Amino acid sequence: MDILKRYAIPYKGLSIGNHHFEFEVDDRFFDAFEGSEIHRGHASVSVELVKTERLLTLDFTIDGEAEVTCDRCLDEFMMPVHYAGTLQVRFSETEKESDGEVMWLSPNETELPLGQYIYESISLSLPYRKIHPEDAEGHSLCNPEMLSRFRIVSEEEFEQFVQQTAAEAATENAPAQDGDSPWSELETLKKKLEQEQQKK
Ligand SMILES: [Zn+2]
Repeated sequence: MDILKRYAIPYKGLSIGNHHFEFEVDDRFFDAFEGSEIHRGHASVSVELVKTERLLTLDFTIDGEAEVTCDRCLDEFMMPVHYAGTLQVRFSETEKESDGEVMWLSPNETELPLGQYIYESISLSLPYRKIHPEDAEGHSLCNPEMLSRFRIVSEEEFEQFVQQTAAEAATENAPAQDGDSPWSELETLKKKLEQEQQKK
């Protein structure tokens, strides 16, 4: 069975008014999303649903934790997840693009699928830079072995490392268009050598 089918509300049978739903998210939930930066985790999802004649309004509260990779030492660690947000569900015969605030549903659908929304809300609730927290004494909980492998000791060095990695990734993705790429540097060096040889 598709695990995401569990994260759906059969809204058609609901009466006009308020309804409450609870969902539990676990490792298998995150497995359903390919390429997810969250590998493991668990969270409680609480939904307050208000049904009117024309639309549904859902207030979400998500609390739990998610395992992510530390951007600094590359070790996995558990990061707390807190999310609160509102989703409006509207109905349309024609297909319309949903976003994080409004979900369009065909009136023929009997269920309101929430898996994708829950997953994206958890992902978006995590900070852009995911780094091990500090302990009570202010010491980083990063894996010291990993850090020494990268020879990163200070925050400045870490910034340099990040920039360097970003530059390397950019070079890999968009080869030799400017003078910054190692390939064009090599090309320049080669030309220089050739010119020097010609002089001789
Ligand atoms: Zn770390």
